[in-house]
Amino acid sequence: MKTIRMAPSNTLAGGRATPYLFAMASPEIEALTGALAKLPGLGPRSARRAVLHLLKKRETALEPLLAALADVSEHLETCATCGNVDTTNPCGICADPRRDARGLCVVEEVADLWALERSRLFPGRFHVLGGRLSALEGVRPEDLAIDTLLARVAAGGIDEVVLALNATLEGQTTAHYVAERIERYPVRIAQLAHGLPVGGELDYLDEGTLAQALRARRPVA
Ligand SMILES: [Zn+2]
Repeated sequence: MKTIRMAPSNTLAGGRATPYLFAMASPEIEALTGALAKLPGLGPRSARRAVLHLLKKRETALEPLLAALADVSEHLETCATCGNVDTTNPCGICADPRRDARGLCVVEEVADLWALERSRLFPGRFHVLGGRLSALEGVRPEDLAIDTLLARVAAGGIDEVVLALNATLEGQTTAHYVAERIERYPVRIAQLAHGLPVGGELDYLDEGTLAQALRARRPVA
């Protein structure tokens, strides 16, 4: 049976149309739209636009997308060394001989690795913990890739471990825990500076950020 989604009546009240999926589309197209709408950064409206584009540009958009998705899906791997997601194992970063093996940057999630990698500023390799310690969510040290991190550090060849964890309570608790576990190895342990965001105005900053920026002040070069 075909379900037809109707726009809720609140489209009249607010003046802003509530996005809904294709009202008259086939179940297949609606399923595609629904799947796309679940992607981060895409709501029903963007998903509908994307689907329309794909339907209109079958050869230049739909088929290349289909081939790329199938290719990635077939070769998708989690790097056994660092936890990155790639189509090879070890991942492109771990396998790249040009990376500086003396530096290891520890992050919570693959998204953090990719964000740092976009900056192209860290020449070393990475280690993805797969989350952060959380009493509330019941995430314990053994749930994170901490043992494999310690094994990498213990294997030697690493001079510096950079703890690039989120500036949240849980992120910092995790950083503290990881730092304590690494302390017995002969490596420098660093963490990202916290403070003023680029373009940030003092007046708009929360007290925690401002206090941290003040504590981390440095001489004017
Ligand atoms: Zn890797």
